[in-house]
Amino acid sequence: MFEKVLIANRGEIALRIQRACREMGIRTVAVHSTADETAMHVRLADESICIGPPAAKDSYLSMPAILTAAAISNADAIHPGYGFLSENADFAAKVEEHDFTFIGPKPEHIELMGDKIAAKQAVKDAGIPVVPGSDGGVADVAEALKIANEIGYPILIKATAGGGGRGMKLAHSADDLPECLSTARKEAEAYFGNPEVYMEKYLGKPRHIEIQILADGFGNVVHLGERDCSLQRRHQKVLEEAPSPALNDDARQKIGNIAAEAVRKIGYRSAGTIEFLYENGEFYFIEMNTRLQVEHPITEMITGLDLVREMIRIANGAPLGYEQKDVRFSGHAIECRINAEHPETFMPSPGTIGDYHAPGGLGVRVDSGLYSGYTVPSHYDSMIAKLIVHGTNRNECLMRLRRSLSEYVIDGLDTSIPLHQKLMGEVDFVNGDYDIHWLEKLVGLKE
Ligand code: ADP
Repeated sequence: MFEKVLIANRGEIALRIQRACREMGIRTVAVHSTADETAMHVRLADESICIGPPAAKDSYLSMPAILTAAAISNADAIHPGYGFLSENADFAAKVEEHDFTFIGPKPEHIELMGDKIAAKQAVKDAGIPVVPGSDGGVADVAEALKIANEIGYPILIKATAGGGGRGMKLAHSADDLPECLSTARKEAEAYFGNPEVYMEKYLGKPRHIEIQILADGFGNVVHLGERDCSLQRRHQKVLEEAPSPALNDDARQKIGNIAAEAVRKIGYRSAGTIEFLYENGEFYFIEMNTRLQVEHPITEMITGLDLVREMIRIANGAPLGYEQKDVRFSGHAIECRINAEHPETFMPSPGTIGDYHAPGGLGVRVDSGLYSGYTVPSHYDSMIAKLIVHGTNRNECLMRLRRSLSEYVIDGLDTSIPLHQKLMGEVDFVNGDYDIHWLEKLVGLKE
């Protein structure tokens, strides 16, 4: 087993990975920017190395700085967490070239899934249902009109190199299509440096349902069920739950097995997530994330598996050691993402934490690097904590979540706790009756 792992990330996820390492008897190296000198992930690591100034491009995104830190500290392996360099195939390749182990998938799979058209084709070939649309990039207006006629309006135009929900354009009819196509191309060029776009049928009221998989590189693959991440604002997930209130056991096993089989065919290794839109009983692939996800804890709570530990074992060359029939699902889990932002205007609210009290008790987990006196830097993502709650069923989970939210004290800055409290009182949410547009209607914010 590895003796020392460098964690190329910050905040709650860096801490989360440290925890798994410590339980496995592995020493940890934290890296940090000058803005994160007092961060909890630095304080709790066995060793820490400053890798640059606050701007992420000069620190957490700097491959030379991170590789040098790994060399200086004599680390065996690097875990990238999520965000930053986690889905950068070039980074994964460089890590291996420098004789460290990359705790994640092979570079070719990161690259494949980063190209949205190639990814869609690859998973389609492996048996996963995809959204009807163009087979690849769309050349011109004439071709676009022809394809649109076949699949029917409304049509979503998306950037091949896209990400983060940016640069998508919705065409309601043939009249809109030429202009949408040209705007989408311009935006794709401006955001992603690649004007290629493709087309998909627009689904009106889907849920976002994703399947977690684990693959060991020897052909052993399991799925760990689904997460429902339909509660989103501006394509950012706000609250996630597992299992989805919209699926029954049959549907769950069916899509889970399709996902696991596809991943086996592709030859994927490590943890990964296949994201789908789900409407009228049908699943449509949207993308595969080749990394650990923010919302992975809810899967851990219902399966009892430590996903980071599994990623480390797999990267070290161990076989999974269990099969699909050994994976047991128990109860219900919900994660609330807590951001340093105003709960109504969503304005970011960095600042210094005054009093701090995290909730606890049976079934309650808080993943966060916050402490009283800590200053939340303004340079990074606004998510400062994740409150994860488990119950024997959804109702118990909701009661426990209400109780936990009411205990949580984070003084000194605005947080999204009141937004989550508001959600807990919404009948549609309590009934599990929501789609990907529901939250934006509730908070009164349209795209
Ligand atoms: P990105 O990589 O930019 O995040 P995705 O393909 O994952 O792009 O889509 C982001 C979000 O856009 C989805 O979660 C969903 O809300 C919406 N979306 C994507 N494709 C469709 C579609 N065909 N119909 C309706 N909504 C869609």
